[in-house]
Amino acid sequence: MRTNQPQTIYLNEYQVPAYLVDHVDLRFELFEDGARVHSTMAVRRNPESAQAEAPLELNGDSLKLESVSLDGSQLAGDAYEEQGDKLVVHTVPAQFELNVVTWIEPQNNTRLEGLYKSSGMFCTQCEAEGFRCITYYPDRPDVMAVFRTRVEADKAAYPILLSNGNPIEQGELEGGRHFVTWEDPFPKPAYLFALVAGDLVEKKDTFTTCSGRTIDLRMYVEPRNAAKCDFAMDALKRSMRWDEEVYGREYDLDIFMIVAVDDFNMGAMENKGLNIFNSSCVLASQETATDASFQRIEAIVAHEYFHNWSGNRVTCRDWFQLSLKEGFTVFRDAQFSADMGSPTVKRIEDATLLRTAQFAEDAGPMAHPVRPASYMEISNFYTLTIYEKGAEVVRMIHNLLGDELFRKGSDLYFERHDGQAVTTDDFVRAMEDASGRDLGQFRLWYEQAGTPVVTVSDDYDEQRGIYRLNIRQSVPDTPGQSGKKPQHIPFSLGLLDKAGEPVPLNLSAEEQGGPVERVLELTETEHSFEFHGVPERPVPSLLRNFSAPVRVQYPWSREQLLFLMSHDPDGFNRWDAGQRLAVDVIQSLVGAADDAEIEPRLVEAYRSLLNDASLDQALVAKMLLLPSEAYLVELADQADVPAIHEARQRVLTHLAESLREELVACYQRSKTQADYQLTPDAIALRSLRNTALAWLLHIKDAQGLAFALEQSRAADNMTDRLGALRALVNSDFVDEREQALAEFYDQFSDDPQVVEMWFSVQAASHQAGQLPQIQALLQHTAFDWKNPNKVRSVVGAFAGQNLAAFHKADGSGYQFLADQVCRLDDSNPQIAARLISPLTRWKKFAPQYGRQMKAALELVRNKNELSRDVYEVVLKSLAD
Ligand SMILES: [Zn+2]
Repeated sequence: MRTNQPQTIYLNEYQVPAYLVDHVDLRFELFEDGARVHSTMAVRRNPESAQAEAPLELNGDSLKLESVSLDGSQLAGDAYEEQGDKLVVHTVPAQFELNVVTWIEPQNNTRLEGLYKSSGMFCTQCEAEGFRCITYYPDRPDVMAVFRTRVEADKAAYPILLSNGNPIEQGELEGGRHFVTWEDPFPKPAYLFALVAGDLVEKKDTFTTCSGRTIDLRMYVEPRNAAKCDFAMDALKRSMRWDEEVYGREYDLDIFMIVAVDDFNMGAMENKGLNIFNSSCVLASQETATDASFQRIEAIVAHEYFHNWSGNRVTCRDWFQLSLKEGFTVFRDAQFSADMGSPTVKRIEDATLLRTAQFAEDAGPMAHPVRPASYMEISNFYTLTIYEKGAEVVRMIHNLLGDELFRKGSDLYFERHDGQAVTTDDFVRAMEDASGRDLGQFRLWYEQAGTPVVTVSDDYDEQRGIYRLNIRQSVPDTPGQSGKKPQHIPFSLGLLDKAGEPVPLNLSAEEQGGPVERVLELTETEHSFEFHGVPERPVPSLLRNFSAPVRVQYPWSREQLLFLMSHDPDGFNRWDAGQRLAVDVIQSLVGAADDAEIEPRLVEAYRSLLNDASLDQALVAKMLLLPSEAYLVELADQADVPAIHEARQRVLTHLAESLREELVACYQRSKTQADYQLTPDAIALRSLRNTALAWLLHIKDAQGLAFALEQSRAADNMTDRLGALRALVNSDFVDEREQALAEFYDQFSDDPQVVEMWFSVQAASHQAGQLPQIQALLQHTAFDWKNPNKVRSVVGAFAGQNLAAFHKADGSGYQFLADQVCRLDDSNPQIAARLISPLTRWKKFAPQYGRQMKAALELVRNKNELSRDVYEVVLKSLAD
């Protein structure tokens, strides 16, 4: 165990910076054995700081300091001091120029923070605290400076030299070297700094903004990826237009650049004017990307672009405010995706992620508020809570204010805070000021961790025609927080009569012809609402469109769920009723006798979904998917994963056997001869078809096998090709699956993104992904420990998606994961800390599993020289 324990940093200890930097001049000399970084900063004392006599403190990490000079004179050794991760200059004037020269070794940087090399190119990742691995600097987001950056390198090896802003100068140097100088006129925090140097091909396009300015758009990729840029470029232009139309935000620099990098810890990074993307989140072609990848790429391109305003022009005061930029921007990209495709499907996908993974996080040892109060390592807080729950919080403000006032609020926010580093509270205040609404209690969403539970009961007074809903809310205790206050919850609902017609919602005896849908605002622990003039006992449709990130408890009968599945006018709740029914059926079979009956009405409900071609096929495609094992685990107390897996498999087998004819018909019906298109309808048909195929292969159907083999042979796109492969890999057709895997690999072995899919299809498969097979994948020539995507596609997919194989009674899966985390912790602690997360919730599982998960965590804790990243996660997971 490490001896010097990492410090905890607290929000309530925030102090304004003692010094500000107005301007930074950087010069990078890039070589094969390292890089020399010359930094010249215009520094002045912050008039708002109380620490008038404070020495100058700069952050640094893994740097070799070569020299320090102040106003042109080199400082003597006793004028400054390197204290661990700081450079302290003892006495400085009120205003001065500081020059620092450091030497770094990007070629040996395996953490992928700061400046590093990926596939021979230099690239950077500075958020959150990577800039301090490049040079000594006040590396905090509330220090915003204008950057000028000169990059020098060998011209043959690195013909492309990029940084933030606009290019202002370039030229030749001695020895075959050259340089380019970039200037970014917008003050920015260091985390938005970026540099790229490499041998890259350039794809060009332009965009004309709403005010008529022409922006140069550039994508830089390795030559082999030149044909995979068109979709992202188009998505970028759609995003730029959408942000002008919906938020009135115009792009500000003359050039916008995207670079694709293979080795990247995150999805993508919004560096000012120079977005850097994980290759898997930007490169796509019909032959190599699935529908899901296309949609993901469109969303991420939009997300990073939208950050130009929500994140870059207005940034975070400190890292506790991370959700200020992430929650708002995820909300914006979700709105954009809904506008580009099917809003209901997008909402279902977002709610599924939230309910499966964020609710789990909110109930686990790492639970934290959307605005955390403390952290040890900020990299551990790039979480679903900050991003997805943060977006839900913004969505609720949008629900409460409506389109028009929300837009007024966002306009005010951008106008008031342009060029500033601010807090989530500033965001909420702008919304309040623009709308006149009091969001005082609403702010608890930022402060209290945990998922609120909303418990609903009802009664009906036939004589008076009154239907009453009693609604109770509670927020569970989380680490360090108990006795929480009730939150402000927008709760959307409707009522349906026996014929499935909506009932007007009259909240008093006087009201008549009320709306058929209302958003109730829950603010107390307990509320009672009476609906008048209700002629018969209605069926409630609760939390429509998932109007708040809460768990709803109501004693639905299977009858009511079946009714809502076919009648609810709210598409989201129709889907949700089907999920609740399936969950109920599967849960009733966990640990049940082998001959226990499986609800016949579930089969009939699925039959009508498959048969009725008049239904919205995009919704049907979603409704056919059974709740995932991860979601079932999340809903269980003391989860017994193998038992849950068995119960779910039984339901799937029963459905597939009972509906075989319908599945064959659905498969054949949804097979189109048309060219590949990315419309919501075409995507829905491919999804339906591949679900039907998977179900047929699940019951080892011979006709299904023939379909799969033909589909693999004839597919003109990756969605169908991978759909067939996945169905085969998850089947009992052992020879065919091995052959399909071998052929697929042969065809795509030179494409890293497709190889990653090939890895994860196996690692996530209960059939093909048992531990010995996972260990064999780690020995595969295409596997690379230094590449985060490969690690995620094998180790991450196994522990996160292949639950029954991971949760083996002998604990072998846990031991395996602990070993891989220890191995990775030395080279890439950020990825190691994320990988360990399946073990952190050991208390959630049945004791025979939980005990062994805990033992695996202890094994990691006992490793020598544990990184701060992993240390924090393990410490919190093992705390009582
Ligand atoms: Zn973001």
